[in-house]
Amino acid sequence: MVELRRIYWSRQTLKLAYSATILWLGFSILLSLMPNSAVTASGPGISGVTGVLQGMASRVLEAIALPGGLLVALAIVAAVVVGRDVRRRDPVRRFTRQQRREGMARAAGQCEMEAGFRRRCSRPAEHGDHFYPWSKGGSTSLQNFVAACARCNRAKGARIPSPGQQERIQERRRNYVLPGGSVGVGERQPL
Ligand SMILES: [Zn+2]
Repeated sequence: MVELRRIYWSRQTLKLAYSATILWLGFSILLSLMPNSAVTASGPGISGVTGVLQGMASRVLEAIALPGGLLVALAIVAAVVVGRDVRRRDPVRRFTRQQRREGMARAAGQCEMEAGFRRRCSRPAEHGDHFYPWSKGGSTSLQNFVAACARCNRAKGARIPSPGQQERIQERRRNYVLPGGSVGVGERQPL
């Protein structure tokens, strides 16, 4: 799946932009609440307190306008991305018995995921894992099938794998996939 690089990095960028904007918003609120010598209460009493509060509220609103607007824009982009993932979902979620048999045979019954030091996990495979997550539009196909032990399957969750993970699993497969078999991994449903 040559497009994984683009998908992975655009989503990482979106996440980073979201976190940065949240921080920006937080700091803007804090800074706007700092004591400001330019604002002085006109005097004791209700009107003075109200004036201070009003001034504070308008300063906060002014400070959050830009990061707040950006946050809304990013939330809309994220909603569009999630919506497209949902529309891509393969109507079939479970691998067929035939796909499981072929996928497990390709892996010779051993987990294909990565253990420490970029080596192949040595535990026996128990699950057929969608390499590109089903919930994010991954196909229920042999091309998207990875044999995984229970622990690796849980650890991966529904995260989109990195292009590096994809390259390494394909590299490892060259060592054990029988001649004629495909080492390629990852497939996404068309929109
Ligand atoms: Zn494993």
